[in-house]
Amino acid sequence: MRLVLVGPPGAGKGTQAQFLAAHFSIPHISTGDIFRANLKGNTPLGIEAKKFMDKGELVPDSVTNDMVKDRLNQGDLENGFLLDGYPRNVAQAEVLRAILAEKGTPLHAALELSVNNEEIISRLSGRRSCSNCQRPFHIENEKPAVEGACDNCGSPLIQREDDKAEVIKRRLEVYAEQTEPIISFYRNEGLLITISATGAVNEITESAIAALSRVK
Ligand code: AMP
Repeated sequence: MRLVLVGPPGAGKGTQAQFLAAHFSIPHISTGDIFRANLKGNTPLGIEAKKFMDKGELVPDSVTNDMVKDRLNQGDLENGFLLDGYPRNVAQAEVLRAILAEKGTPLHAALELSVNNEEIISRLSGRRSCSNCQRPFHIENEKPAVEGACDNCGSPLIQREDDKAEVIKRRLEVYAEQTEPIISFYRNEGLLITISATGAVNEITESAIAALSRVK
């Protein structure tokens, strides 16, 4: 299964990606996670990306596309992949289509997680993320078993810099201006599947799996 997840920040892409990647036995490729890992490691890529991430802006396409191309050339994609957070504009969607066409492995689907704005703001401002494995939690809706610690690896939970109120506002604007047009792009390609992403996490996963099982 070769899949991209589409939806605004806070739609639950990271959470659903973990379950869907496990279900389909495919790698979860999150461009945001790759940038954050580079940021933590203080690599040149991380230092460059931080300038944009801290403001809620997109990292330039030249940087992002090369990074994704490298990742898609690694040898662990025989079952497919799940891209989360990429593409984020139509130019990236076109680059992805070209990379995959060259490899003869086109996408099977673009899964849109649909959520209203109010819900998004509440989710993002309450989100806490593992400082090590990035797993997302929520201070009310998805608490960890031990307060402040990740269920997966026990590392401390933190609030991402870009989950602070002023940055959330800008990320939502950037989504509306630059990312939302990819929904029409994938609709025109005949790849778009939209599910409602409000409600219990496991019910959303089940509805995603049911929708994807109809994909050929
Ligand atoms: P995310 O974890 O997907 O919300 O991404 C966090 C931040 O990383 C975004 O706000 C952008 O600054 C940057 N980023 C992640 N993916 C992309 C992308 N495909 N294109 C440009 N910037 C990205």
